[in-house]
Amino acid sequence: MNYPANGFVTAYIGLGSNLASPAEQIITACQRISATPDIIQLACSSLYHSEPMGPQNQPDYVNAVMAIRTTLAPLPLLHCLQTIEQLHGRTRTGERWGARTLDLDLLIYGEQQIDLPELTIPHVGIGERAFVLLPLYEIAPNLIVPGYGTLTGLLDHCPLTNIKRLTP
Ligand code: ADP
Ligand code: MG
Repeated sequence: MNYPANGFVTAYIGLGSNLASPAEQIITACQRISATPDIIQLACSSLYHSEPMGPQNQPDYVNAVMAIRTTLAPLPLLHCLQTIEQLHGRTRTGERWGARTLDLDLLIYGEQQIDLPELTIPHVGIGERAFVLLPLYEIAPNLIVPGYGTLTGLLDHCPLTNIKRLTP
């Protein structure tokens, strides 16, 4: 993996919650990510309300996306995010796309494309998820998603139904 000379990389994190006061979970998670050593927050999107993907017998979601600058390598950054998920009482039931207090996905890490058993970057399915693409567009409209092309190109092909912006 390559790192820029100054050691800082811009990365994007997707936040989602549909249990235990989802909006508060997202706001607190944002604060916790910003307070992490080696991470500087660049931007945080509005909150969005979205209907669940996969199993429908679960509450609707609140989603947001953060832009950060970090000196952490991709795996240590993923592990930091997983620690914050645990602080929010995340339990992994094994059910794919099941309800959760907090889901933190590492969406994009610089210009890198990574395919490890534990970590795929850009995040799998990034191109089909309005609850990722819309908040990303709000904070980084000119973004190029490595391996996928322009964010606007992805948005052109993604149905933008079942999602609503909540806060300015
Ligand atoms: P999901 O977000 O797909 O509902 P989880 O949050 O439980 O599922 O994540 C399952 C696994 O996905 C994690 O154990 C993690 O190692 C892996 N993973 C692979 N790529 C990523 C990524 N870019 N961001 C977050 N987790 C990832
Ligand atoms: Mg996840």
